[in-house]
Parts: sequence; C-alpha cells; structure tokens
Amino acid sequence: MKLDSYWTDSAPAFTPAVHALPAQVDVAIVGGGFTGLSAALALAKRGANVAVLEAGTRVAAEASGRNGGHVNNGLAVDYADVAAKVGIEKARAWYRAYDDAVDTVARLVRDEAIDCDFMRHGKLKLATRANQMGALERSAQRLLADGVDTDVEILDAARVRSEVQSERFHGGLLYKRSGQMHMGRFAQGLAEAAQRNGAQIHTGTMVNRIERVGQSHAHRLHTAGGTVTAQQVLLATGATRHGGYGSFGWLRRRIVPIGSFIVVTEPLGAERAQALLAARRTYTTVANIHHYFRLTPDHRLVFGGRARFSVSSPQADAASGEILRAGLAETFPQLGAVRLDYCWGGLVDMTQDRLPHAGERNGLYYAMGYSGHGTQMSVHMGERMAAVMNGDTRANPWQGRDWPSIPGHFGPPWFLPAVGLYYSLKDKLA
Ligand SMILES: Cc1cc2nc3c(=O)[nH]c(=O)nc-3n(C[C@H](O)[C@H](O)[C@H](O)COP(=O)(O)OP(=O)(O)OC[C@H]3O[C@@H](n4cnc5c(N)ncnc54)[C@H](O)[C@@H]3O)c2cc1C
Repeated sequence: MKLDSYWTDSAPAFTPAVHALPAQVDVAIVGGGFTGLSAALALAKRGANVAVLEAGTRVAAEASGRNGGHVNNGLAVDYADVAAKVGIEKARAWYRAYDDAVDTVARLVRDEAIDCDFMRHGKLKLATRANQMGALERSAQRLLADGVDTDVEILDAARVRSEVQSERFHGGLLYKRSGQMHMGRFAQGLAEAAQRNGAQIHTGTMVNRIERVGQSHAHRLHTAGGTVTAQQVLLATGATRHGGYGSFGWLRRRIVPIGSFIVVTEPLGAERAQALLAARRTYTTVANIHHYFRLTPDHRLVFGGRARFSVSSPQADAASGEILRAGLAETFPQLGAVRLDYCWGGLVDMTQDRLPHAGERNGLYYAMGYSGHGTQMSVHMGERMAAVMNGDTRANPWQGRDWPSIPGHFGPPWFLPAVGLYYSLKDKLA
C-alpha cells in the first residue's frame, strides 16, 4: 500500500517553465493549490504579470491533491441552520455560491479542455440510522420550499439499495447538481492553462515573510531564493503546514488544520464497480464523524473519513488507514478481502462557522477556510478574488463577514482529541 495520494500518483506531474524569481510583479499568489492556480489563470487572462509562489515541490499537492474527489454543491452545514442565523436571503445566496462553484469547475474543464473525467452524477447523502431520515426529509423540504435547490430528492431505502450495494443505509438525500473529477489531472490542466496564459509558477518557493510597502496593496515577499515585490498579493495558503510567516499569523488563529484520511482499493473491475455503486455518484454518510466515497475512472473505490482527530503524518495516515479499512468492510462486507493500494491524509482548513472566508486585510487579499468542502469553492474563489483585485468587490460571495479568532487557538490544534471525543460520543448517543 502506498502512503501517497492516488490523485497525484495517477496524474502526469505539471512541469513549470524555468524562470528566475522575478524582482517585481503585478500580483504574487502565495500557494499553488486550486485557489492560487485558478486566481493565476484568471489574472493572467486579464493581462496581469502574475507569479505563483508554492512552497512544495509540486503544485496542488496539499489539500487540492489529497481530497476525496467530490465536487459537490450545497453548504457544508445544514441550510436551515444557516438560514435561522443569517436569514433566508443570505443563506440562499451562499448555497447558490456552491452551485456557481460547480459550474465554474465545469466551465474551466470545458474551456481549457482539461481531461479529468469531470461528471455531474449527483451526491447522495446516506442515512446510517433510520432516525436520520427525518432530518434529511426536513432538509429537502426546506430547500424546495425556499426555492433554494429544486434538484434535490429523497430516496427511500429500497431505491438506495438499488444503486448502492450495501445493507447499511436507510435512505438518502440526493443533490443532483453535484459532480466529481480526477483531482490530479484537473490540477495539472489548471496549472498548464495558467502557465499557457503567462502566469509564472515557482515551486519549491516558500514565502517566509511578507512586508507591506507603505499603506498601499504593495508588499515585499521574502523567500530563500530572493525577494519579490508585488503590487497585490493573494494568500491562498489553505491549512498550511508551512510556518514562520509574520503577518499571516492573523490567519493562524482563525483556521484549524484538521486531518482527514482516505484509502483507495485495488481496481475492482468494471463489472464489480458497476454493481457496487451503479449510479457512480459521490456519497457521504450522515454523522459528525462521517464517511465519504466514490469510484475512480479505473474502477477503484475511494473511501475516506475523519478516522482520527489528529493532523496528518505518515504514522497518523497509516493508523487511520486501518480504521478506514474497518469502516469500508462494515459498509461493503463483500470488499472485506480487497487489497488497499493507497492510503493518505491531508489537512482540512476548518473555520469555526464551517464557511469560507475571503476578502482583504491590511492590504493583503486572502481566500481560504473551505472546511472540507472546497474543491469547487477554491477554484471559484480564485476567479472571484481575481475580479475583486481588479476592482469588483461585489464578485466575492463571502464579502463583509466577520471573522473572529477562535478562543484558545494560537496555531497547533491542541484541542483536536477532545473535539474528536465529543463528536464520537455525539454520534454514539444519536
Ligand atoms: C483529505 C481531504 C479530503 C477532502 N475531500 C474533499 C472533497 O471530496 N470535496 C471537497 O469539496 N473538498 C474536499 N476537501 C477540501 C479541498 O480539497 C480544499 O478545500 C481545497 O483543495 C483547498 O484548496 P486551496 O488551494 O485553498 O488549498 P491547498 O490545496 O491546501 O493549497 C495551499 C497551497 O499553499 C501552499 N503554501 C502554504 N503556505 C505557503 C507559504 N508560506 N509559501 C508558499 N506556499 C505556501 C501549500 O504548500 C499548498 O500547496 C478535502 C480536503 C482533504 C484534506
């Protein structure tokens, strides 16, 4: 079993053109994940001189290359809860921002001819206990009644069983606008498109410190290989593992890096895969500590979850792999003896309200905090922040939201085991 991401392992690596680190650029983007690459593409298309500075040796090798492969619509939190807090109008706009985000991915795949098996077969949220169906039904009714999403449908247990070869589920809520894609191949296509349009991509270039130039949007970015002065800077650093960077310490008290873990089986063969998940959707289970799964184009099962409340490391990933193996066997006992070819973990950039945050502070632009629901929103927000940086502040669907720091959170998430215990108890008591 490889302790590596299936998506990056099974995609051609993007090769950046060789450039010396530029002394001056119009825009510097810190982070070459989906947010950064998508912003770079949009800004380069507008004629800006753009440099992406990525700490890793490969673009999109953190969350953007280590996720579950779902491109789902809908909020990460229950729409009704959000509507109760902020009102129907705002909640509806935020929900629809995710529809727009899936559309953005679909458009980029088409326009840039990215070969990544993007398909829109929907997401099925599955009830593992009969008493969860009431909440799913209320959710669907509310989305329909408020005219938020007319493409949702409740599937009863028999309907679910006709497309999911498992006895574990009592029904589900289908979100028909959701999609999926091969994340490694999408990343490679997005990076190629950005580079083709003139963006410079510098891997192995960690930004250690950022220094504001006067009161403007201009900043000096310090890296081991030299200093770049940029008229504008976008921070697209996700749940970064890279530390030591002065002014972006403000973000550290607002983003909690939480490990999420994934295993991928050996190829099951077309026939067995088709029998397992006939509709080839994306699937998640209802629980605080839930599972998510889907098939790959080469007929493997990708099975993930927040197996342990820890940050990702080779030891944590391997231990989580064993927990996920048990979850997989419980869900699909017929796959109990199947070989696992891949196991990896990644860091989710969790926020307290589980919604993204994007905007500008002290002259620095930022977009992050997708809270495990960001393959579509990161791509969308890259584009949207490019428009904001070009003067269109209304382009940001998340503008004007307070972002208070998390009490007691100063960097390393010391409280994760306690949070994990709380949520697993909640699931057991439900
Ligand atoms: C295990 C897992 C499963 C997930 N599953 C799903 C899913 O199925 N569906 C979904 O919608 N979302 C999912 N997500 C979330 C989704 O992958 C992310 O929200 C999205 O990819 C975030 O993209 P990003 O570009 O903002 O961040 P990232 O992809 O993390 O990119 C940030 C980049 O910034 C770089 N960087 C950081 N600091 C510096 C610095 N100082 N200097 C230079 N570079 C720096 C990092 O190296 C990194 O490459 C999952 C996440 C994980 C971890």
